Amino acid sequence: MLVNPRNGRPYRRLVDAQRALGLPCWICGHNIPTTVDRQRHPLAFTLDHLVPLSRGGDLLAPANARSAHRRCNSARGNRTTPRPPQRASRRW
Ligand SMILES: [Zn+2]
Repeated sequence: MLVNPRNGRPYRRLVDAQRALGLPCWICGHNIPTTVDRQRHPLAFTLDHLVPLSRGGDLLAPANARSAHRRCNSARGNRTTPRPPQRASRRW
């Protein structure tokens, strides 16, 4: 039986921890308001991933977590932006 990992407690804990940092949106650089409707507001906080999950990014790694506006996150997700390949600094 498969469970959506985004519904799991570790993921929610990561979301809460990332939001608690109070960081600006890593995509557009503007502050993320904390008083808006988190489910619907386009400027609400969402957890984005530095390395997209579709490219092997880790859903639960704090080092891969970034704060983003809902609209920035979805705009980025809908676009295929060519980026230079990321090289791992360590090979273990
Ligand atoms: Zn933004």
